[in-house]
Amino acid sequence: MRNQRDWLAAELERRGVTRREFMGFCAAMASALALPDAAAAQIARAIQKTEKPVLVWLEFQDCAGNTESFLRASRPTAAEVILDTLSIDYHETIMAAAGHQAEANLARTVKERPGGYIAVVEGSIPTGANGAYCTIGGRSALDIAREVCGQAMATIAIGTCASFGGIPAAGPNPTGALGVSAAVPGVKNLINLSACPANVENLTALLVHFLTFKRWPDLDHYRRPLFAYGKSIHDGCERRAHYDAGQYVEEWGDAGHRAGYCLYKMGCKGPVAFQNCPHIKWNGGTNWPIGCGHPCIGCSEPNFWDTMTPFYQHLPGVPGFGAASNIDTIGLIAVTGVGAAFAGHGLIQIMKRVGEDAEPVTPKTEEGGQQ
Ligand code: SF4
Repeated sequence: MRNQRDWLAAELERRGVTRREFMGFCAAMASALALPDAAAAQIARAIQKTEKPVLVWLEFQDCAGNTESFLRASRPTAAEVILDTLSIDYHETIMAAAGHQAEANLARTVKERPGGYIAVVEGSIPTGANGAYCTIGGRSALDIAREVCGQAMATIAIGTCASFGGIPAAGPNPTGALGVSAAVPGVKNLINLSACPANVENLTALLVHFLTFKRWPDLDHYRRPLFAYGKSIHDGCERRAHYDAGQYVEEWGDAGHRAGYCLYKMGCKGPVAFQNCPHIKWNGGTNWPIGCGHPCIGCSEPNFWDTMTPFYQHLPGVPGFGAASNIDTIGLIAVTGVGAAFAGHGLIQIMKRVGEDAEPVTPKTEEGGQQ
């Protein structure tokens, strides 16, 4: 049997990926993970030596957007190879097996590899009506998640639905949808990769980190990796200079919109949303929403559907200037220090710690209480 090194070398060759390109990928991963340049060689060694990690991908109350994102790793070469090095034992959407055969695959993996696979959960978990809103093979999503995540080496909640409940958990949340941390408390080594959908570049970097260091990277208070969620969209936004200069789009298609002015007045939630979109972008780095002239909708944040809507209405007041601040006056004030206000992350507390004891995020009910 060929070892991993042989397999990887053969696969790289088959796909026309040169050693130089592979090392370039490792360097890009080190950069994405905010590691020193020297880590690239360590990453390359680890990837070549590590056995294929086994992945079990569960899909519950969702739109399959994260699967779509996963299938669209468009930096072909090495990123594609890394994703292909995964042994995906179960993924309803992409596996050839179906029905009882598929469920048997899942049961076999859990039984034969306890503590030896990574569970990926896509979609929220409905807890109402004893879990009857989402059943697979006659079992509720809650039941499956408890068993599969409970025996996994680590669990990735991919997308905002799995992380925090997402759209299914928006008020009035008729199915009692919850994210993994709230639905299945105590899951070992859980990490949230929120966003709607999660960016495949972050998933790749996360897996590379795990392959290299055998642990997740540092997390924020919401159990999200700091390399991807440590800074606000606003901090890295290409329109930031316009914000600081008080130059805003006033209506769609106006001169300011065509000139690339700041989208704050059009509802941009970039100041209160944390993710690395400005740097890694989407579709292989082609572009991102704000680059296309659309405001950030804050999809990476807990309860985003309830707290970030209406999408085209700007945030009340101006963060950093107090609740009474008026956006129309900010142009006069902005240049004097709003950058510093946001750079201090005064809006949302980010705690650099591995959040084993982080609170699960539970969606609010209509009455405003916690479920
Ligand atoms: S408000 Fe939005 S568009 Fe304006 S600088 Fe901040 S993130 Fe960019």
